[in-house]
Amino acid sequence: MNASIRDAIPVAQGNYPCLILNADYQPLSYFPLSLWSWQDAVKAVFLDRVNVVDHYEQTVRSASFEMEIPSVVALKDYVAQNRSPAFTRFNLFLRDGFECVYCQSPDELTFDHLIPRRLGGKTTWQNIVAACSKCNLRKGGRLPKDAGMIPQIKPFRPTMHQLQAQGRRFPPNHLHESWLDYLYWDVELEP
Ligand SMILES: [Zn+2]
Repeated sequence: MNASIRDAIPVAQGNYPCLILNADYQPLSYFPLSLWSWQDAVKAVFLDRVNVVDHYEQTVRSASFEMEIPSVVALKDYVAQNRSPAFTRFNLFLRDGFECVYCQSPDELTFDHLIPRRLGGKTTWQNIVAACSKCNLRKGGRLPKDAGMIPQIKPFRPTMHQLQAQGRRFPPNHLHESWLDYLYWDVELEP
């Protein structure tokens, strides 16, 4: 997945996504990138929950106020990032980089129990890996060594920080220029 800033689509009419930073000015989430609709961002400004960091040139108006639409806001209250990530399909694929741990294919991803269920393998972070359908089928209900298929990673329970770091590998297609000062991607963006 590659993103080029030059290819970034212009903000569509009426669609002004706002980048959400934590109180430490780090993005709340890289992947999916933490974004709110402009309506939610404006509401948060009025509720005094965020500081406006940058804004679009466009303004919103009502009878009683006018404001520039925020493009980047920072939460006033820090959201702790040391909680355990939920054991979800998305987070598991993210941990494994959206690739099959056996052949590195990104296609038709599904799950594999390293120790098959019929041999007592549990559905846990430590026993589930992302695998493409082909490898999953090939491995069948066997142990990795019996199938001659050794996963490239040793599955583990990730921390939020580890998932954030993984998320940096996947910049979205659309990045507003005002966001770039707050985002650090592991891939090179074209100038
Ligand atoms: Zn595979």
